[in-house]
Amino acid sequence: MTSYKIALIPGDGIGAAVTEAAWEVLGRAAHGAGFKLEGTTFPWSCDFYEKTGAMMPADGIETLRGYDAILLGAVGWPKRVPDSVSLHGLLLPIRKAFVQYANIRPHRLLPGVEGPLRASAFDILCIRENTEGEYAGAGGRVHNGTADEVAVETSIFTRKGVERILRFGFEQARKRRGKLASVTKSNAQKYSMVFWDEITAKLAADYPDVEVTNYHIDAMAARMVMAPESLDVVVASNLFGDILTDLGAAIQGGLGFAASANINPERDAPSMFEPVHGSAPDIAHLGIANPIAAIWSGAMMLEHLGEAEAAKAVMTAIEAATARGIGIEPGKHKTQDITAAVLSALG
Ligand code: NAD
Repeated sequence: MTSYKIALIPGDGIGAAVTEAAWEVLGRAAHGAGFKLEGTTFPWSCDFYEKTGAMMPADGIETLRGYDAILLGAVGWPKRVPDSVSLHGLLLPIRKAFVQYANIRPHRLLPGVEGPLRASAFDILCIRENTEGEYAGAGGRVHNGTADEVAVETSIFTRKGVERILRFGFEQARKRRGKLASVTKSNAQKYSMVFWDEITAKLAADYPDVEVTNYHIDAMAARMVMAPESLDVVVASNLFGDILTDLGAAIQGGLGFAASANINPERDAPSMFEPVHGSAPDIAHLGIANPIAAIWSGAMMLEHLGEAEAAKAVMTAIEAATARGIGIEPGKHKTQDITAAVLSALG
């Protein structure tokens, strides 16, 4: 029987509950489709940081390298560990070390979910550059604590990095409805974003079947609210993609529905699957975290592993649950009740 080794990193806050829910559903789907998922749980989190002084052990990356995929809950507990420490100590190193340069985030309304917009049908695939750009971590501070203090944070855009994310976007558009929206701010940012636009134009020649439109980030934010049905694949830099996909989560009914995959398209290192949301400290101990985003991310993991049939079964089960009104109103259903509804639809 085919078996996949999965590294589980539940993380902080609601991360544990939603990862447990996703893992239960994925296990059931694997059983139904005749393959096995073998999970190993790693306690890397803000608790771990407080005990050891690091978000993960020094050999954490090398440990993860031996897995077929990583399923992550959420990381961050700002009251005890600064977010810049938790993010730069775990998630960002994993994304960079495993060259997970394509962060894919689907935004559509699940059956039964109304969302805040009048638009009732849209299906957007946001692709966020995930390894460089504004989150490259290049910068520094001088004259600390004085009136002359200066902080510099430099965005880094490489030809290799921009080309590969745009090419990935073109490929996805070709598999979907053939439309690519490239998002920049090249009127104001005259070096990096003009560079991005030039590369978009160059690659477009290789994809004559894909219709390309360039948008500025501000115009795209408005378009996602006013005319989301006009969008198919949206490609953006690390920061712009990060912000746009929280907007995407909002228009699809909330962070409880927003799934994501950090993909290494070359498959020479594991990819990582995680909901878009964070650890939600405000509801962490209430048992009401919506696990749908985590379960959907798990379905994306199965798809990536080549188990398309099981991935589809999980998505159909999620849709059956939401169509019955389960998990669509924040706080109305418990995490375990939503999970039970998905499991029961899975059969
Ligand atoms: P958040 O996503 O944790 O929460 C924002 C709001 O959405 C909260 O009101 C929360 O209750 C709600 N929410 C989020 N997920 C939900 C779910 N599944 N079901 C129901 N409601 C849900 O964002 P935040 O409050 O800005 O961040 C909290 C912590 O999480 C911070 O430490 C932050 O750095 C971290 N964070 C981590 C990730 C990640 O691990 N990928 C992503 C974003 C934020």
